[in-house]
Amino acid sequence: MADRQDHWVFYFDPNRCIGCHACSISCKQFHGRDSDADDWRTVTHHEKGTHPASEEYDADTSSPIENVPISMSCMHCHDAPCEEVCPTEAIVKRDSDGIVTIDQDKCIGCKYCGWACPFGAPTYGDNGLMSKCNMCLDQGPGSGAGAESKNEQDNPIQPNCVSDCVGGAIKAGPEKEMVKEASQAAAERFKSNNERVIVEPFQGEENLDMVEHAATPDNAGD
Ligand code: SF4
Ligand code: SF4
Ligand code: SF4
Repeated sequence: MADRQDHWVFYFDPNRCIGCHACSISCKQFHGRDSDADDWRTVTHHEKGTHPASEEYDADTSSPIENVPISMSCMHCHDAPCEEVCPTEAIVKRDSDGIVTIDQDKCIGCKYCGWACPFGAPTYGDNGLMSKCNMCLDQGPGSGAGAESKNEQDNPIQPNCVSDCVGGAIKAGPEKEMVKEASQAAAERFKSNNERVIVEPFQGEENLDMVEHAATPDNAGD
């Protein structure tokens, strides 16, 4: 059985994200998905700070309102609630690299995984089947189920959202490598949050609540 530390995870740094959506466009293009299909990776924009009442506004003391872009996809969860509810075992968290795939040959389009996923990652397609981020295991619409393990490839391709990120905000790789690149705060948060995605604090503040809010079914990958 593969060490959990070898399972691939995403890393996201909101301080580097400029909100350009290149990651979600790159994903859609690489996988040949229709322009009107739901994104496997979504970028949402959130405001940080509060608008002061006009009579209280003081340019010297009022905090600026900041836009915080958050880029999210399937997190390839260790506990994978989508896998647990799938009645046909179409969803598998692969032991070899930790990537969660949907085998469309087994999917019956019941949408249970979409309801079970706290992040709204599985998307329902025109073909009546579910699909989602496959960490770029495979090109073209589909799941990548059955593709060779990333850990067994000589030069595993980096996910396209990572390669095309303008700000260098997204990384992906085996957990042991990603944790080394993360700040201590981000690594500790990752460990205490069921080890789903490594997120850097936004300008020194804890921001995972914002990330999780951003990734509700109403906001991300719906
Ligand atoms: S983020 Fe959602 S779809 Fe992805 S592994 Fe976790 S529960 Fe499943
Ligand atoms: S890893 Fe690949 S499939 Fe997943 S969001 Fe990035 S580009 Fe899309
Ligand atoms: S490509 Fe990078 S910088 Fe642009 S929105 Fe996506 S994560 Fe942010």
